[in-house]
Amino acid sequence: MTPTYDLNKIKFATDEATFKRAVGLYESGNVTKVETLGGYFSAVVLGTEPYCVSVSARNYKQGHCTCYLGQKDTLCKHMVALALYAVMDGKPLGDKDKQLSHSVECSMRRDTLNKEELEAVKKSITESMRYVKPYRGPSRTWFANQDSLREGCNRLSAIVSDLPVNKQTAEILIKLLLRLDKKLRVGGVDDSNGIVGGFMTQIVEMLEEFAQIAPECIEAFKSLVGIGITCFQWEEPLVCILDETQN
Ligand SMILES: [Zn+2]
Repeated sequence: MTPTYDLNKIKFATDEATFKRAVGLYESGNVTKVETLGGYFSAVVLGTEPYCVSVSARNYKQGHCTCYLGQKDTLCKHMVALALYAVMDGKPLGDKDKQLSHSVECSMRRDTLNKEELEAVKKSITESMRYVKPYRGPSRTWFANQDSLREGCNRLSAIVSDLPVNKQTAEILIKLLLRLDKKLRVGGVDDSNGIVGGFMTQIVEMLEEFAQIAPECIEAFKSLVGIGITCFQWEEPLVCILDETQN
């Protein structure tokens, strides 16, 4: 049985701490007696005690575990460890597979993207933006909606952290900020947990780094002048940098 999710899905839709603990369990061979039945993977995962764990082949967050968290219907490291087994088919994880950072970090690279690379980046941004979706209720779907926002921002973080530093990529980042701003102001996205806002702040901070590393990036900030009301004046630090260079 092949799960419909892949390793990337698990990486982007799981919080960092749970993912890392699950990797530990999987790599120490603690996922045992794996079986498939009726669209579910089941296993005994050895933790503090042996736990009976199952996850759906369609959605690894659907399942069950006999541990304390699992009994409260919370996604636990045992379920994620079994999901890792399912997508890896029991094979070892590579170093890159295990790398996980949900925060935005400047690549410090100075290369230029060619036309195909640029198109690929834009496409992957657009795909990730689909997870930043409006909340339409009912209230029981609110947590799932917030998870989706988080997954979208995690996916976007991985994309933007891989961009080289130049005017071209600064423009991509500014456009991304404007798209997210629009989603928050008029797109019906409920960001009361500050997931999207926090991500936007990280991009602004990275753009400040861009401006220091490669001053030509500041040119890209010009499109922020006079844009009117934004959701939390996130553009101000960037407009300030632009002002300073013009005086
Ligand atoms: Zn568990």
